Amino acid sequence: MSFDAKTFMQDFKGKVLFQEPLSKHTRFGVGGPVDVMFSPCDINELSLFLKKLPSDQPLYILGAGSNLLVRDGGIQGFMVKLDSPFFKQIKIKETELTAYAGCPNVKLKKELIENGLSGLEFLCSIPGTIGGTLKTNAGCYGKSVSDVLIKATVMNRKGEITELSNADFHFSYRNADLKKDWIILSVTFQCQKEDPNQILQTLQEQHEYRKAHQPMKARTAGSTFKNPAGMSAWQLIKQSGADLLHVGGAQVSDKHCNFLINNGSATAEDLETLGENIIKAVKKTKNITLEWEVERLGQKK
Ligand SMILES: Cc1cc2nc3c(=O)[nH]c(=O)nc-3n(C[C@H](O)[C@H](O)[C@H](O)COP(=O)(O)OP(=O)(O)OC[C@H]3O[C@@H](n4cnc5c(N)ncnc54)[C@H](O)[C@@H]3O)c2cc1C
Repeated sequence: MSFDAKTFMQDFKGKVLFQEPLSKHTRFGVGGPVDVMFSPCDINELSLFLKKLPSDQPLYILGAGSNLLVRDGGIQGFMVKLDSPFFKQIKIKETELTAYAGCPNVKLKKELIENGLSGLEFLCSIPGTIGGTLKTNAGCYGKSVSDVLIKATVMNRKGEITELSNADFHFSYRNADLKKDWIILSVTFQCQKEDPNQILQTLQEQHEYRKAHQPMKARTAGSTFKNPAGMSAWQLIKQSGADLLHVGGAQVSDKHCNFLINNGSATAEDLETLGENIIKAVKKTKNITLEWEVERLGQKK
């Protein structure tokens, strides 16, 4: 980096890490370093940072890294991670719940039960933060973020705040339209009043289902490929025999063959090559081209 990032960052109070290995920040446990990782203390500091950051400096936003495959050569530029306590707040007004973007989804559980609010149980079982969950229009059990979002507050690259409605996101399968470098700050969801015992039961059932069907504790980024219209990616993988493939320390989960797993020794290169080999195998046997759902970023080594 020719730009003097250390001098630029010295006046900020939030946590700043230089050459931070992204393997520490992704569920896959792989990924080379990012030049600068910044955790702003609050919205004001984030705004100040963006106002000062030269526009030619690359900027990335990181949630919990649950849907990312960061390559072994890492990322040049700045990465913002909203993991300070300010960005983990949850506020409730009648049946509307507002969560800040760095809030882990699982943290919603307690609020839903204590306040007798239903409608967001499905989100609690999805690994990640509220920001990443909105950006990926995450979903399960027949519901996705687009079904429950009222509005979100976002910040543009100039550090200015705007409010966006549900319609502004033009939601599609696992995607919310958000302009490049815009950062989600907080998200307001619609809930309904419900008996806390019923909420607890739904949460427990969904947790049990996941434990039984998905490798929740493994180093994985969830579903690797999008389901082609009317089909299941996992079925196509199984039928083509690609579930038996492996590359170095990267393998296919035996619990759910649309999940790739780092068995502890995989590089990002192993995982990406395995994914590409699966795409080739499904194309050859089924004549269908699977599309990556996991977002790949950074440079190869
Ligand atoms: C075991 C497992 C099971 C999973 N099951 C599901 C499932 O059932 N359904 C499902 O949809 N997904 C699932 N996933 C994928 C993943 O959990 C979701 O995509 C999750 O919502 C990603 O959140 P994150 O905070 O980890 O985002 P990250 O992976 O860190 O980032 C994802 C994207 O969001 C962007 N982003 C993150 N925060 C912000 C922000 N504040 N502002 C703007 N952009 C931002 C990032 O730049 C990136 O483009 C699963 C993953 C795992 C590991």
